[in-house]
Amino acid sequence: MFETLKAQPADKILALMQMFRDDPRTDKIDLGVGVYRNADGITPVMRAVKAAEHRLWETQDTKAYTGLLGDPAYADAMIGLILGDAVPRAAIAAAATPGGTGACRQAFEMIRMANPSARVFVSDPTWPNHISILNYLGIEAVPYRYFDSETRGVDFDGMISDLKKAAPGDVVLLHGCCHNPTGANLNPVQWQEVIAVLNATGAVPMIDIAYQGFGDGLEADAAGTRTVAAGVPECLIAASCSKNFGVYRERTGLLMAIAADTGRQGLNQGTLAFLNRQNYSFPPDHGARVVTTILNDADLRADWAAELEDVRLSMLGLRRQLADELQRLAGSDRFAFIGDHRGMFSRLGASPALVEKLRQDHGIYMVGDSRLNIAGLNAKTVPILADAIIRAGV
Ligand code: PMP
Repeated sequence: MFETLKAQPADKILALMQMFRDDPRTDKIDLGVGVYRNADGITPVMRAVKAAEHRLWETQDTKAYTGLLGDPAYADAMIGLILGDAVPRAAIAAAATPGGTGACRQAFEMIRMANPSARVFVSDPTWPNHISILNYLGIEAVPYRYFDSETRGVDFDGMISDLKKAAPGDVVLLHGCCHNPTGANLNPVQWQEVIAVLNATGAVPMIDIAYQGFGDGLEADAAGTRTVAAGVPECLIAASCSKNFGVYRERTGLLMAIAADTGRQGLNQGTLAFLNRQNYSFPPDHGARVVTTILNDADLRADWAAELEDVRLSMLGLRRQLADELQRLAGSDRFAFIGDHRGMFSRLGASPALVEKLRQDHGIYMVGDSRLNIAGLNAKTVPILADAIIRAGV
């Protein structure tokens, strides 16, 4: 039977990783895959994660199944981290999921169950896996304008006029912070305008928050998500701990469904449990338990937040260095947007041909849409990249 299978499109980012590995040049620079790396090119296990794992190893006395929604203490801790007290806890249903990808997948499935003809409005561009999963599930993805290729900021007028086309029963997918792949984000006033459009159209927001703490800080990065959650009747939130806890391979995510009134929370909770049961029964526990241990212990939490802040500031420093270097070489501020973007990524706005030229001539690997991973740089490679960008004629 398997001969009937069709070859599936390769994931472009994973294919790029393989090309990088196969490249014999010793001065090659990997700005492709979305993983944080320190100045030595290492993705470290965070100190608090090591300490929490050690504690778990000492105290955990069973590996028996958790509940279908995961450990409730994990949901409580994560809801506190992401939402603070923006929304009454009793209105929120939550399920642990395998990473943020699992949270997105379960969210899309819940949307389809609730409204089989729902359309999901997605930013143009968005994380490619959003589109891929939506296509796979047979859900219509409707792009809304987002990235302004001139300013490399948000095309906010375009975004708003496209979002006005959403209807009740549709969903608008928003990035909570640190937009992937562009690095361009909404400001607080713009978030308010988006909420007004959501309420005028009756569309339900779904917020994907995968980089809390990577942009302007843990609280600031959650602000947009909090105002939306507090400002609309219903909302979905897909969260990932992969980046901010550095637990990528542990597959640690959370899906939240906020109900219009607390009386409806139970139905959402039951739906999330059902969806977990159908897809994999119990969600992974180790990463979630590590995260819970950290968030619920004042010392571990403070140490984690401090290390995360160092990570954030190091990326911000590299951004500024790159923007300054490009300003110096270009003799203009046309690359200032790199300093304005936030998170791990910036979209350079270079053509695929130029991206290919950077790879061939300079061994610089970035995704074909010219997304560069700032964390792939260090103080020594920033000037090399800036020089290559100018010489390639970006
Ligand atoms: N959403 C966005 C926007 C992302 O960039 C990512 C990670 N690339 C995810 C969700 C999911 O990450 P993970 O499944 O590794 O937690």
